[in-house]
This record gives sequence, C-alpha cells and structure tokens, in this order.
Amino acid sequence: MSQILPASIPATLFHERADAIAEAARELAQHGWTPATSSNFSMRVDADHAAITISGRDKGKLGRDDIMLVDMHGKAVGTESRPSAETELHTQVYRHWPDINVVLHTHSRTQSVASRLFAKDGVVKLEGWELQKAIRGHTTHESALDIPVFPNTQHMPELVAQVDAWIESGKPLHAYLINGHGIYTWGHDMAEARRHLEALEFLLGCELDLRRLNA
Ligand SMILES: [Zn+2]
Repeated sequence: MSQILPASIPATLFHERADAIAEAARELAQHGWTPATSSNFSMRVDADHAAITISGRDKGKLGRDDIMLVDMHGKAVGTESRPSAETELHTQVYRHWPDINVVLHTHSRTQSVASRLFAKDGVVKLEGWELQKAIRGHTTHESALDIPVFPNTQHMPELVAQVDAWIESGKPLHAYLINGHGIYTWGHDMAEARRHLEALEFLLGCELDLRRLNA
C-alpha cells in the first residue's frame, strides 16, 4: 500500500527516516530481540508526524515500504496501512519530550524474563554498573537508575496513563518495561536510542545472571 505524504513533508525526508528505521530493525532482529514479527520502531518526522513500522511485518526483513506515517495521536496519515497496536506509546514520548526523535520497542528474552521477575517490585533498580553511564545524564556508576515495570494490558490508554503517572511524579524516565512483554526506550537520535537499548539489555541480563548465581 502506498504512502501519500502531506505537502509539508518532502519524500526524501520520509525515505531517510524509513530507511533508518528499517536498518535498525533488521540489525536488532539479528540479535533475536524481535521474535515472531513483534516489536516496533519509530522516528519523528516533524513536530506533528512520526514514521513507524506497519503492524505485523517481519522485523528481520524490513524495508522502506514497511514504514508508514502517523500523527502525534497515533492515527495513520496518507495510507490505509495499520500502524503497530502500540503506536500511542511512541507518540506519547514524542508529545512529552519535543527533543526526543527515536523510540525503540523490543521483546527480547532477557527483557521478557526480567519484566516478570521485577514486576512485583514495579521497578528494576540498577546500581553499581559501569554501563549505567550509557544512559543519558548518568555520569557515574554510583547513581541509581530506576526502570519501571508496568502491568501489561491490550488497552493502550491504560498503559499510556501508567507512563504519564510516572512522568508526572517527577521521576526521571529513560525506559520502561511492560510485564511479560518487553522494553521501551528512546533517544535524541538513533545512535542514542540504540545505546540505551543495548545498555539496558546488557544490564537486565547481568541482573538475571546474579539471581541465577544466587549472588
Ligand atoms: Zn510490544
């Protein structure tokens, strides 16, 4: 299905974003973090639009035509394609932080297991890991990094409200887990969002290993 762009968005701009999303998705799929067509990825296009993966596509084979345009409330723009069911969680981030330009959501095994293990606490408390410094604003391993774990639901407004409540409480938010589901993280650009995702995947894996070792 073809994508018709609003006059304000040059085709080159949309294609650049679509290619960057597709490339990142293929690479993350290679890590095994996007099983069974799960996961979704997006980039801001302008103040009112984002490019996002079309629902149900194999992320390991993603190309430019698997990306579509949505408005900042997650509604399709200029296409009959259906965006990911979780599109509102992406546009929520763009609405809240105008300087965030990339949102990544994956379903790795480590993220899924960690979300179940830490759901009872509602948070993963990362402390003492050097790699916490990969997260924006964290300059030392001595600072604590809280990653909330929200209950899963297929009703997106409930998830959006849970994320809003955390943000409104004034606590920093760089990423969150959804119980039994996966992780959301973001960044000012693709490199920062990828760094956040890779660091958190690593750190969650370390926390799981410590528990396996009863350390
Ligand atoms: Zn998901």
